[in-house]
Amino acid sequence: MDYLDLEEERLKYDPQEEEELFNCDKCGAEIYEGQEYYECEMGDLCEKCFDKMQEDEKSECERIAGDEDEY
Ligand SMILES: [Zn+2]
Repeated sequence: MDYLDLEEERLKYDPQEEEELFNCDKCGAEIYEGQEYYECEMGDLCEKCFDKMQEDEKSECERIAGDEDEY
């Protein structure tokens, strides 16, 4: 039994499953009704991708005071 079979099996016995509304524009994660997501210039992102994007942005802007000679 592969993963998809298991997923089908799970849905069959879980009628309360929230409807999937759309997918994260970056990783494709399913975003369900009532779930938080982040609308930004890159599209609609799940929490994980938004955190990652912020980390990337932070590291791009990061400077060390007193260590500016090389710029
Ligand atoms: Zn994502």
